[in-house]
Amino acid sequence: MAIERTLSIIKPDATRRNLTGKINAKFEEAGLRIIAQKRIRLSLEQAGKFYEVHAARPFYGELCEFMASEPVVVQVLEGEGAVLKNREVMGATNPANAAEGTIRKEYALSMGENSVHGSDAPETAAVEIAFFFSGLELVG
Ligand code: ADP
Ligand code: MG
Repeated sequence: MAIERTLSIIKPDATRRNLTGKINAKFEEAGLRIIAQKRIRLSLEQAGKFYEVHAARPFYGELCEFMASEPVVVQVLEGEGAVLKNREVMGATNPANAAEGTIRKEYALSMGENSVHGSDAPETAAVEIAFFFSGLELVG
């Protein structure tokens, strides 16, 4: 399988509870390498732009306000089949459906406050990585 890169975000519910290290350990244990990482505070406008694809969904306003409410950690993960592998490590969107051992099973509070974001395909990963990072910041 090809080496890929994917965008991950540790969401405000997790940074607030000081879970950055525990979540990063899950990525590293799965063989994903953190090749870029920064802690930032998103404005409401930036959150809205990042989640533009969900603009028509009923939870869009709530999602953007949540993502702008407290700091997030944005990161690029690299590894074999990284996009799909990260989705496996994250677990299902709704923590009630997430498999044992996944980040969302262990840490998510609800469907909305579900601790992590991960790109859903290599094409969206490229767009999402470029949203937060310049090429110089990716050190594989
Ligand atoms: P995922 O993050 O697993 O890729 P989606 O792309 O479908 O899930 O949704 C983006 C984010 O929007 C979710 O991670 C979650 O924070 C939020 N979300 C999705 N569905 C709901 C919902 N029904 N109610 C509240 N928030 C939701
Ligand atoms: Mg998604």
